[in-house]
Amino acid sequence: MEKTITELPVKAKEKHTKNKKFFAKLKKKPPKNLDYLMQELHKEEFQRTDCLTCANCCKTTGPLFTNADIERIAKHFRLKPQKFIDTYLHLDEENDYVLQGVPCTFLGTDNYCSIYDVRPKACREFPHTNRKKFQQISNLTLKNVAICPAAFNIVEEMKKRVGGI
Ligand code: SF4
Ligand code: SF4
Repeated sequence: MEKTITELPVKAKEKHTKNKKFFAKLKKKPPKNLDYLMQELHKEEFQRTDCLTCANCCKTTGPLFTNADIERIAKHFRLKPQKFIDTYLHLDEENDYVLQGVPCTFLGTDNYCSIYDVRPKACREFPHTNRKKFQQISNLTLKNVAICPAAFNIVEEMKKRVGGI
């Protein structure tokens, strides 16, 4: 997995122009069965992928923390939400609460998430490849394929399955 992760940014860069064009077309004319197809591709890929051998998302990019995330996780630590914010988060340039740094402070050396049951919504949903109207998050996906080997494979398979739209 380490080699795959190291090679991923280069592979994603090679595909970037083609992927961008593909997503532009997809946005204009999404196939009727796209939601169903993405559910299927996501499921198939994550049956093959063991995130515990990877954790590249947790190591290289942090999630956004919504107010509901902050309240839930602060409660888990028996902290006041403001204390949790002061200890672990900061506001980014878009005024969203994010981690103070990466790798994520809640990631263990064994790649387990120490707050798994209460983790942020963004972590639960990453890499968003099974969400409805997948074509609407193409900019995010173009970035995620350089971080997440599963997302990279899902997009490659999607291009094959959707064909020349
Ligand atoms: S979601 Fe993607 S980047 Fe994160 S651990 Fe799983 S395969 Fe790796
Ligand atoms: S909260 Fe957990 S799942 Fe989310 S980035 Fe941190 S270690 Fe990963």
